[in-house]
Amino acid sequence: MYKHLFFDLDNTVWNFDLNSWHAMKRVYLECGFQDEEYEGFFEIYNRHNDRLWELYRRNGIQKQELARQRFDLTFEEAGISGISGAEFNERYLQYMPLQTRLCDGAHEVLEKLSKRFKLHIITNGFLEVQHKKLEHSDLRPFFDRIFISEEIKSPKPSREIFMHALRNTNARKRESLMIGDSWDADVIGAMEAGIDQVHYAPHLSDNHFSTLEEQLLAKSSTHTYRILSLKELFAIVHIF
Ligand SMILES: [Mg+2]
Repeated sequence: MYKHLFFDLDNTVWNFDLNSWHAMKRVYLECGFQDEEYEGFFEIYNRHNDRLWELYRRNGIQKQELARQRFDLTFEEAGISGISGAEFNERYLQYMPLQTRLCDGAHEVLEKLSKRFKLHIITNGFLEVQHKKLEHSDLRPFFDRIFISEEIKSPKPSREIFMHALRNTNARKRESLMIGDSWDADVIGAMEAGIDQVHYAPHLSDNHFSTLEEQLLAKSSTHTYRILSLKELFAIVHIF
């Protein structure tokens, strides 16, 4: 019954966490910092980055401010001085989209699904960065349309980005399925736009929903699935 499969990019298809770790480590070592202190640095960075992205999503700060502050604050907390956050960020963003590590099984699953369905991307992120990731990791050929929040000026979970994607692919809601790792952005976002959703949760130990989640799902007229591996998608879209 599904014809259009909308995928999130980061940590659903393209292994953002692993790629980020490697790209940042390269910049970190090039700056002459100690290898053994990298793990701690990366942890501090992720904490600041997550918080700033949350602010950015709520329109609290601008893109440039986010880009600069996430490293300025990391350096401050890590006790590093003499390097500008903006410069470090620029080099990190240069290396980041050149990374090619994918989520487990992504290539095989996309290859198979792309023969039977129209695949699209709906991603929150910066335009040039997201396009480069798709090109360098040879993902682009699997997808028909790419929708990036910076361009559409409306990030997930806002209803607008999902409606924009439906309009521009001529997809009906009931023929569409959103697949993503973020409960708030991908699952709740698509649910509120009236699209069925798959929550990709590789870090969970089972695919049961919590009581709180069940209560939320009971109010929705859409279907919600949870998978721990991308290969479980085959059963949802009836490919065996
Ligand atoms: Mg994601």
